[in-house]
Amino acid sequence: MTEEKFDTLRIHGGYDPAKHNNSATVPIYQNVAFALGSAGRGEAVAQGTVPDAYMYSRVGNPTVGVLERRLAALDGGTEAVAVGSGMAAITYAILNVAEGGGRIIAPYDIYGAALDEFETLFPKYGINFDLVGNINDFDEVKSLIQPDTRAIYVESVANPTTEISDVEKLARIAHEAHIPLIVDNTFSTPYLFKPIQYGADIVVYSSTKGISGHGNVVSGVIIDGGHFDWENSQFPQFQENEFILKSAEHPENYSYTTVFKKQAFIKRIRMKYLRLMGAVLGPFDAYLELVGLETISERLDKEVATSLKIANYLEKNPHVKAVYYTGLPDSSQYSLAKKYFPKGIGTVLSFELNGTAEQTKKVVDAVKLFLYLPNVGDSRSLIVNPIKITHREVPEDRRAASHITDQLLRLSIGLEDSDDLINDLDQAIKTAFE
Ligand SMILES: *Cc1c(COP(=O)(O)O)cnc(C)c1O
Repeated sequence: MTEEKFDTLRIHGGYDPAKHNNSATVPIYQNVAFALGSAGRGEAVAQGTVPDAYMYSRVGNPTVGVLERRLAALDGGTEAVAVGSGMAAITYAILNVAEGGGRIIAPYDIYGAALDEFETLFPKYGINFDLVGNINDFDEVKSLIQPDTRAIYVESVANPTTEISDVEKLARIAHEAHIPLIVDNTFSTPYLFKPIQYGADIVVYSSTKGISGHGNVVSGVIIDGGHFDWENSQFPQFQENEFILKSAEHPENYSYTTVFKKQAFIKRIRMKYLRLMGAVLGPFDAYLELVGLETISERLDKEVATSLKIANYLEKNPHVKAVYYTGLPDSSQYSLAKKYFPKGIGTVLSFELNGTAEQTKKVVDAVKLFLYLPNVGDSRSLIVNPIKITHREVPEDRRAASHITDQLLRLSIGLEDSDDLINDLDQAIKTAFE
């Protein structure tokens, strides 16, 4: 059979109705534990060697399992682990690659909580970050690679500037140093961009955002491209014997790399981090996500078209000093946008007003349709002033470089009528400037 395409996979991927009483939609397995059958099967399930077997819902659950297989397929990955939030996905991916200590290269322009974690929390666990202003400055990135560098970490599209990371080049630099490239692809979703196609090794998502798309579930996922060789002296944690993996087939040399080969990363996330640290995704949340995912293509097509229309409107507004949306032809990154994002750069854009901090607040107070809150990828359109809400963590001396000023507003575009959204922004800006 030829490989199914995105729009088929988002509806059918990873699910066989015949194995679930022919239920057309994915059932919610709202149970904690699963009977093991015979003692022989119990032992094999406990060793993790029985495919599609479940034992305890902290480690794996059939509803969550469909979501994991579906997202892995949509991303072109081999396997996925769903977790309770995007931050849990980032945390587990970083710990799995750098536990015991090491360095990671990342840009400053990343999700605020991730930046806070990288600067103030991970160093306390011996994981230190070399943060760069411009992740596409390849000479600088190369110069920062040291013997204990464990990964390069980027966001495919940065927040709030929509700056694009040159994933293909960064993957090549990482692989020359025998380290993986980890990409937070939240803003793009696999519909707009698939990092694994361009060499990324691990993809993390806050599926809270565009993947579920309705602002009704907090969730995260880690996806493995399945190409990276973890049997590399820089990652000894994958080569240690783990008693839990010992079996008749592996009576000796029962490490993650020996037992799971190139699937070592994702298997270890499940068995070490999900099982032992426990930020599990609930089956009902997975179900909500599966429902949201079914319309991802139509939602994003409409939201991207509206975003472009709003960006064009803002560029012509005399009270707007700058629009940050790299999908615009006059963006300095437009060639990267065309290469990586033929379906559009996304549903988030930012703009700077030509006015005072007071006038920015007035716009926030005057919008009627846009909801004032710190989220993105909702079916409702959202507005936020990053300097006060989402990007408080960014140090003051770093703010100007990321355009985090008192005049900056970030929009996340939903499914409302585009003219109504433009009229709402227009009346709010007029109110602030009259
Ligand atoms: C929201 C977000 C996160 C964090 O996700 P949660 O699901 O809120 O924990 C991480 N990265 C990006 C780019 C995000 O937008």
